[in-house]
Amino acid sequence: MAIILPDLPFPKDSLAPHISEKTLDFHHGKHHNAYVTNTNNLIEGTDLAQASLEDIIKASAGDSSKAGLFNNAAQVWNHSFYWNCIKPNGGGEPTGNIKDKIVADFGSFEKFMTEFKGAGATQFGSGWAWLVLKDGKLEIRKTANADTPFAHGEKVLLTVDVWEHAYYLDFQNRRPDYLSMFMENLVNWEFVNKNLG
Ligand code: MN
Repeated sequence: MAIILPDLPFPKDSLAPHISEKTLDFHHGKHHNAYVTNTNNLIEGTDLAQASLEDIIKASAGDSSKAGLFNNAAQVWNHSFYWNCIKPNGGGEPTGNIKDKIVADFGSFEKFMTEFKGAGATQFGSGWAWLVLKDGKLEIRKTANADTPFAHGEKVLLTVDVWEHAYYLDFQNRRPDYLSMFMENLVNWEFVNKNLG
């Protein structure tokens, strides 16, 4: 098996009451795990069997004959990245270089939050909202389904999963409340700072 499911970087009960252990049971143990299994099944016996996850994504991006592989491999990558973007007792105002960069590029942390949460709230259907670094400037992205700015050569700093499986058990249809909780209680700004470099 070339691609593995990474362990969660925090105990499964440590995000409660914001994200329940049950959500993580399904989200990590079933959904993320299924993307790993599907990716391994799709690369078995092909010239990508020994390739890295990143190379599999690059090799399948934009190739409609490899859409199934792209969707599963990108979802493996997106989820592994998402788990690192969150932590127990996270969220709130950032510190370090990302704080100065956000103020410089968005005007204020409040304006950044409004834009980031807005991207997540207005992504129609399943997808992701992102903070990326583009030509030295912070920008917000939203992508549908498995698509990821990483596949388009952009430097990814932060993401939030807005597929219903990420929040439905805890928030039902209240995606904006999940996004507010994400910003107030979950964001791992140390990881975002590390990505900014
Ligand atoms: Mn997900």
